[in-house]
Amino acid sequence: VMEEKKQEEFVYRSKLPDISIPNHLPLHSFIFQNISQYSSRPCLINGPTGKIYSYADVELTSRKVAAGLHKLGIQQGQVIMNLLPNSPEFVFTFLGASYRGATTTTANPFFTPAEIVKQAKAANARLIVTQASYVEKVRDFAQENEIKIVCTDSAPEGCLHYSELTQSDENELPNVEIEPDNVVVLPFSSGTTGLPKGVMLTHKSLVTSVSQQVDGDNPNLYFHSEDVLLCVLPLFHIYALNSILLCGLRVGAAILIMPKFEILALMELVQKYKVTVALLVPPIVLAITKCAAVENYDLSSVRIVKSGAAPLGKDLEDVCQAKFPNAKLGQGYGMTEAGPVLSMCLIFAKEPFDTKPGTCGTVVRNAELKIVDPETGASLPRNQPGEICIKGVQIMKGYLNDPEATARTIDKEGWLHTGDVGYVDDDDELFIVDRLKEIIKYKGFQVAPAELEAILLTHPHISDAAVVSMKDDAAGEVPVAFVVKSNGYDVTEDDIKRYISKQVVFYKRINRVFFIESIPKSPSGKILRKDLRAKLVAGVPN
Ligand code: AMP
Repeated sequence: VMEEKKQEEFVYRSKLPDISIPNHLPLHSFIFQNISQYSSRPCLINGPTGKIYSYADVELTSRKVAAGLHKLGIQQGQVIMNLLPNSPEFVFTFLGASYRGATTTTANPFFTPAEIVKQAKAANARLIVTQASYVEKVRDFAQENEIKIVCTDSAPEGCLHYSELTQSDENELPNVEIEPDNVVVLPFSSGTTGLPKGVMLTHKSLVTSVSQQVDGDNPNLYFHSEDVLLCVLPLFHIYALNSILLCGLRVGAAILIMPKFEILALMELVQKYKVTVALLVPPIVLAITKCAAVENYDLSSVRIVKSGAAPLGKDLEDVCQAKFPNAKLGQGYGMTEAGPVLSMCLIFAKEPFDTKPGTCGTVVRNAELKIVDPETGASLPRNQPGEICIKGVQIMKGYLNDPEATARTIDKEGWLHTGDVGYVDDDDELFIVDRLKEIIKYKGFQVAPAELEAILLTHPHISDAAVVSMKDDAAGEVPVAFVVKSNGYDVTEDDIKRYISKQVVFYKRINRVFFIESIPKSPSGKILRKDLRAKLVAGVPN
């Protein structure tokens, strides 16, 4: 028998050596592992109020919240929904759930009631923590399903006040045995195709991911306890939750929390608290470079500006560098399902390496990356673009209740297929050049075409529809719809835009509607999105 010749595999690793990662620990134990070294130092700074919480405060309050969750009937393994904007309470609630052995599903408080309810149902949330102004969005659903609502700022009728949690006795938290494989956070993402799904990230995945970034003698992302980290990106998205909050806590840094992005307020706070590290997304970088008043602020304290969640153009990199004279500027690349960080620039390491403009870094350590030919599945050598795949303990356990989608995303050998197209150059640097998957990124926020298509098809005068992305200067990309009208009906672009706007959060709104005779589809019925995008490139269709 002829021995089958095994195809050569091209696999890329970090230039930094692997480290030993304590991923047997529950997430909260891991991030507070060294707390005795900085327990009285500032941990959270509430931007709008100036209130400062020490590490000791945050750790104790989180354990009280855990005991409170237990008292309210939340059991180990159950899910709570964290529907809070960035705030100290977001942090206490998240960590409290971890101590309780519960799972947090994070959601955008700006979601419409329908969007929130869909996620709460899919996640089987038993309790929702929110602010009074969002209660109406969930009240009916919560009542019908006997889900408790806890409000952090007051207690509207039928809701509990947050003090129910924070004034609990931390000693009343029963002993919980948390397995490394238990799910600690359940963000929703549509991944490479279809509707948003619960992404199961375990204690082990997050511990590994945080460790890959900030641990070791020469950490890839050199954060330390003297740093002040800007946290303006939403904590309900895993990028901020992981790379700002958890990485910051792990090293004992101060985390400056802002509930929303407003350029001058942000500049004011950066100057006032001498922020040293700013993790941003391209639209915020753009806003900073466009704002003339930025010149009036002293931004010299900033030593790291890291952009992620969407591509950052080279021009923008250069202009941004001029605004932050003392900062190292570079990108990171993440995907919720990947835990989320796949790669980041080694310019941020304690002993940095030079990086080229436009790269999103090299793969994190204790992980493997390969570039795969989407047609043949073969791994590709350097400088050849293909689908980016990642392997390591940090990636998701799978999609909640969806083994098929999980199997489509993580192959039998454990490689997670990102749906992003990129290549690795001669210096191990990764460049993203395209996207195979249908997802649209509006200012770094996910928009799933399948979700908008499903809503469009509920319109009585629409017989078929497809949604694709269109390039946009301010947002990066915006969703646009191709629509086939039902016979004999006249529906306008504005009608359709309004119909969608009422049902989705602002960033999923349809930017343009193009009417066509039929939606191009493959023989198996799949929308040929490429053809539709080609129409857009060729000029606005009519
Ligand atoms: P999310 O799961 O919401 O974090 O979205 C993940 C997707 O965002 C990735 O699969 C990429 O398509 C895109 N993305 C994230 N970071 C970058 C980056 N630095 N450059 C280009 N695209 C990015």
